[in-house]
Amino acid sequence: MSGPGDPNSPDPRGSTDAPSEQALTEIKAKQADEIVTCDACPVLCRIRLGKTGACDRYGNVDGRLARLSPLVVTQRVLDAQGELVPFLGKPWAGQLLPEAETFVTGIGAGTTYPDYKPAPFIIGSEVAGVDMVTVVTEGIFSYCGAKVKIDTDRYIGPEQAAVRVNGEQVGHVTTAEYGSQMLALGGVRHLTGGSKKEGNVTCDTLLTLCNKGAVDMTVDGGASLRVQAGKPPVIDGQEEHRMRVGCGSATIGIFAQQWRDHVDEVIVVDDHITGVLTEHQAGRFLEMKPAGIRVRGRKSTPGRYFQVANPGTGWGGTDIADPLAIIEKISPGIAWPGLRLLMVSTTGEHFAYFVLDDDLKPQAATMPQAVALAVERIGENCEPALCTVLFMGGAGGSLRAGVTENPIHLTRSVQQALTRVTSGGAPVYIWPGGGITVMVDVDTMPDNAFGYVPTPALVAPIEFTMRRRDYERMGGHMGYVRSLDKLRLDQVTLLPWRPAQPWPLDPLSDGSGESE
Ligand code: SF4
Repeated sequence: MSGPGDPNSPDPRGSTDAPSEQALTEIKAKQADEIVTCDACPVLCRIRLGKTGACDRYGNVDGRLARLSPLVVTQRVLDAQGELVPFLGKPWAGQLLPEAETFVTGIGAGTTYPDYKPAPFIIGSEVAGVDMVTVVTEGIFSYCGAKVKIDTDRYIGPEQAAVRVNGEQVGHVTTAEYGSQMLALGGVRHLTGGSKKEGNVTCDTLLTLCNKGAVDMTVDGGASLRVQAGKPPVIDGQEEHRMRVGCGSATIGIFAQQWRDHVDEVIVVDDHITGVLTEHQAGRFLEMKPAGIRVRGRKSTPGRYFQVANPGTGWGGTDIADPLAIIEKISPGIAWPGLRLLMVSTTGEHFAYFVLDDDLKPQAATMPQAVALAVERIGENCEPALCTVLFMGGAGGSLRAGVTENPIHLTRSVQQALTRVTSGGAPVYIWPGGGITVMVDVDTMPDNAFGYVPTPALVAPIEFTMRRRDYERMGGHMGYVRSLDKLRLDQVTLLPWRPAQPWPLDPLSDGSGESE
């Protein structure tokens, strides 16, 4: 390669004559060959011509540092009734449509480092007669993670158990929710507090999940999982289809009336709360005769039993394959020959029908049509099992300096709902209390909205929208506010607005309790 130390390269400084055309060409080639230093994050990559930096977000294009992915802009047009007009059916030649309302997202906007530099885009606009400002950036989140909700009854592993990807711990199983198992992944300890490999695998896992990709993981002492936002979970190689209708007790409460005329007893098998119809308040209320069938486990309240079996991937998230295994005793004198017993799981996927014989032993029997319909009804009331990935990150740190010289004013403005925070245009949940801790469902964001830097940390789009007056008051970078038509938008990807989502530029509170 011809370079500054190359003896074959002509040195224009040593010549008194005008440089030849060939020399000029070589000088230009050398200039173009210059390495550029990316200052968009602390890694400070030195990037050769035509190459990209470590995160692939920035590259050396013609000797110039360039953000390589296009900036994502979203537009909408409403008709007189306020309905979205599908204007993007028009031929698209790369230009923004002038008749549309426009929102510039942080996706592809680039980052600024060190943080005191103003954010890459600070856009002034007028919305319904009010001057607004949107500060647009890609935040580098060292403090971030993902909360993953997996709609399943199946046991995935003990609470607090390590969740691993390629053998590295990337998070843990956390408190289960109603019908769902939960994972807490990432966080600063796994990103920075362990080995370099742990940090990189954690970062890669978060990046893939947040960009809606699939990740295979294992739980210590539990199951193997395939998790992907908006898709059914795969547990130990089996795709989950149904999210349970409720716990065993709730299932009894919902369907008791529909069962009463067709069976004498129903036991809804559930790892958490197994329900027994005739003992349950619902059965009593319907004046059902006690059936004398006692299940194992610890009785909580009438007709509600805990710990009838061990957790597992069998009936109702227990480890049982034979439902009769949870029956402790059948009381003579209360139960009777011919008693009709339905046993069913909380999703209706497992079910069995028995009739007690003369010795009060349950014998498998053909399920009457009315009972089969009642079981089907459980399935009908189950929602599809999905994985939900919520990105969670701390935006209350130094990225605020790209918005204002006095960051606490931004924090307060967000807390007072004078500033709206969005991520790729999607609404975020702001945790109460100190800081700006945001949480966003990645499925509501455009695809591939996230990037990373090898510090390691995730890069996520973030936009702060407020009235211009409030921006000025908080000490915003007023000299950098530009209207959209003054922006040089070389590379733009235009996305149609998602009608189900609130428009980020909708009127904001003016602090008086009124919207303006
Ligand atoms: S990792 Fe990416 S953002 Fe950071 S310096 Fe390198 S190219 Fe720039």
